[in-house]
Amino acid sequence: MDEQQTGIAQPLEPLVARLLAPNPSPFTYTGTQVYLVGTHDLAVIDPGPDVPAHLDAVVAAIAGRPVRAIVITHTHRDHSPASRPLAAMTGATIVGCAPLAVADTGPRLEAGFDTDYAPDRVLADGDTVSGEGWTLSALHTPGHTSNHLCFALEETNALFSGDHVMGWSTSVVAPPDGDMAAYMASLDKLLRRDDRIYYPAHGDPIENPRRLVRGMMGHRKQREGQILRLLREGARPVPAMVERMYIGLDPKLLPAAGRSVLAHLIDLRARGLVAEQDEVWSHVG
Ligand SMILES: [Zn+2]
Repeated sequence: MDEQQTGIAQPLEPLVARLLAPNPSPFTYTGTQVYLVGTHDLAVIDPGPDVPAHLDAVVAAIAGRPVRAIVITHTHRDHSPASRPLAAMTGATIVGCAPLAVADTGPRLEAGFDTDYAPDRVLADGDTVSGEGWTLSALHTPGHTSNHLCFALEETNALFSGDHVMGWSTSVVAPPDGDMAAYMASLDKLLRRDDRIYYPAHGDPIENPRRLVRGMMGHRKQREGQILRLLREGARPVPAMVERMYIGLDPKLLPAAGRSVLAHLIDLRARGLVAEQDEVWSHVG
């Protein structure tokens, strides 16, 4: 894939263009990719952060065409905040995931949650939004967040995979809203589909997506096995596990790695394989 320039819409196929937001970080890779779907009228998927220069770039890419819907995969602050000003500028409705139901009590990861998100219409699994020559159908894929939706473009068999499956890294699954069992079930849900290509919110398009999804499931199973082995050696708190499991990781990402280990532990505890007392985790049986 060609080098992407921030703020310039890049066509990927006749119905799809992407536009990179100016928010690169250790959590967003090169930044959030906004997708424009349609030719005569549009859907804008995940308009991104509420940054004036970025909004100007999105409006320039829209180029006066009617926007049928601003479509939101989930409410992390690098995805949904531009929905409000963009709705005001274009008159489009905001549709997509539900506002977050759980309190954001965990430590701030990624850019945190967009608590001001206010959709005009919440889409449930299987609900659609359409325009001239395009139909997007929602696919509920909890795990990265409880409200996460992917969107299938029915006409071309493409899937906008949001942060559920990304082109550069595995997803952050951070409790309390992130849920490892739900994430694995949502990966399995994708495996049972036949999408041609994924367009993730971060990273390049994913061809042969089921191979990547299978690899991601294998990666999590490996992590799970690693955690069980460490706990069989002896009881440990999460930071001690992270130290052993993530050698050489960017220190900025260590807290996220800790949340991810915690997500595994919560899942393993629900399955009766580990126990916790005073933040020290132990193997059961
Ligand atoms: Zn996210």
